[in-house]
Amino acid sequence: MQQLAGIAASNGIAIAKVYLLEAPDLTFEKTDIDNPEAEIARLEKAIEVSKGELEKIKAHTKQKLGDEHAEIFSAHLLVLSDPELIQPIKDKINNEKVNAESALEETATMFINMFKSMDNEYMRERAADIDDVTKRVMAHLLNVTFPDPALINEEVIVVAADLTPSDTAQLNKEFVKGFTTDIGGRTSHSAIMARSLEIPAVVGTKNVTTTVKDGDFLIVDGLEGKVILNPSDEERQAYEQKQAEYETQKEQWAKLKDQQTVTADGVHVELAANIGTPEDVDGVLRNGGEGVGLYRTEFLYMGKSSLPTEDEQYESYKAVLENMGDKPVVVRTLDIGGDKELDYLELPKELNPFLGFRAIRFCLERDDIFRTQLRALLRASIHGNLKIMFPMVATLQEFRDAKALLLEEKDNLLSEGVQVADDIEIGIMVEIPSTAVIAKQFAKEVDFFSIGTNDLIQYTMAADRMNEKVSYLYQPYHPAILNLVNNVIEAAHAEGKWAGMCGEMAGDPIAIPILLGLGLDEFSMSATSILPARTQLLSLSKERIASYKDEILSKGTAEEVVELVKSITE
Ligand code: PEP
Ligand code: MG
Repeated sequence: MQQLAGIAASNGIAIAKVYLLEAPDLTFEKTDIDNPEAEIARLEKAIEVSKGELEKIKAHTKQKLGDEHAEIFSAHLLVLSDPELIQPIKDKINNEKVNAESALEETATMFINMFKSMDNEYMRERAADIDDVTKRVMAHLLNVTFPDPALINEEVIVVAADLTPSDTAQLNKEFVKGFTTDIGGRTSHSAIMARSLEIPAVVGTKNVTTTVKDGDFLIVDGLEGKVILNPSDEERQAYEQKQAEYETQKEQWAKLKDQQTVTADGVHVELAANIGTPEDVDGVLRNGGEGVGLYRTEFLYMGKSSLPTEDEQYESYKAVLENMGDKPVVVRTLDIGGDKELDYLELPKELNPFLGFRAIRFCLERDDIFRTQLRALLRASIHGNLKIMFPMVATLQEFRDAKALLLEEKDNLLSEGVQVADDIEIGIMVEIPSTAVIAKQFAKEVDFFSIGTNDLIQYTMAADRMNEKVSYLYQPYHPAILNLVNNVIEAAHAEGKWAGMCGEMAGDPIAIPILLGLGLDEFSMSATSILPARTQLLSLSKERIASYKDEILSKGTAEEVVELVKSITE
């Protein structure tokens, strides 16, 4: 057996065979042929098989993600039935006596270039459709596997260089028992999605894709961040035992599901969950969440070919609010950019996307897109306990501008006779050091703060959250981070506001005592972290940890902080 170390990205243990998700090798030789009929028959067969697959993917997507997402596959099917594309390929085979692969590629490239150069977004999207489907047909001509995560129908562990959030969304939990990737960190969005889906995952292994092959057997230990390749019988048994123990532990935690989170010295804190889709609410309630502390709305915009309409968004927000009842739901407005791209917006590639045109920066410029979202949120507000926050706010002016747009849309709706709740809290995420530093000034204007440590750490330490090479600098317990967090909490409390945290740090068992001692009011985390966090908090004394606050904040290194906190809490 062989073992790889990575980053524990989603709890649990998975044992199954490998499913390698990688771009297929579609290289071929252009050859002359002397039997065009046979070549055309080969092409037709590849097209038929591809159509069959697309029908299945379409049905699967429709069932999992709804009609809107399934539409993209209808477009792909149309391409494969379009004589204007297919006939020229056949003509090429007949007239030039070349193999089907080269006729397909040359014809497809010609159409793709033609559509791409058109000054019309719809036509440019067609270029992408043709590219997608012809690759699938090519794979069948060459007899190579074209990976389709949505079609997996046996128990596997998905192994990939990286998984985009939309790849992750396609994974079917029933069959995909776990996943592991070469790159990524605990706060990359595929890791975050894995936790929402409750699929064990280890990311950032550096070379798992080149170490394993299809059909190998794997254990993904998402508790310790290990991947074990082709284990012996004893190892497998040991892990089956560990898996069973983890399940028993989960049953223990589940007993706390309907309890409040009250510390040993009687302080109540709120444990909320981070979600990405309305379907995640189920997991929040199953795991005893007292609210939603972060609804990442960008997944509504991803995995499709055009922007979601106001009504579509309204339906999603309403579903979340209704299903959460009177529990608070903090919705974050669109945070696109960074590692979350939207192909159909065709934004220019940037050298530093994490420092670039993203989130509120994008929304303030594209206020057409932003207003649609704000209207959908405002309309949904009457269905529950909605709070709205803006991501990546760096200046007070950005907050004021965003709030002004929100209030303008509220007035517009009211004058159209549409009902809107009148007590919606408006807050910001604190992800940028400039905002954490002047939290005092912000606290006079916002209703609440939610500290986004996933980004706050990367910006404070200048260490890319996706880059495992610098992951040693990604230090949540670094005194610089803790001082910023403390500054935000103190600023909020001085103005009678509340401070929460929705970065992954909020669910980290080492950080939880520190954050409790600093006075954090709301901890928002992956749903599966809530019950372990509650178990931990029940036995902690806030007063005791708070009495060490100055000492914690004046430590010089993360290690010293951890050592001190352990000595206080053990
Ligand atoms: C954060 O930055 O901490 C956060 C919660 O936002 P995201 O992970 O979506 O960037
Ligand atoms: Mg962020």
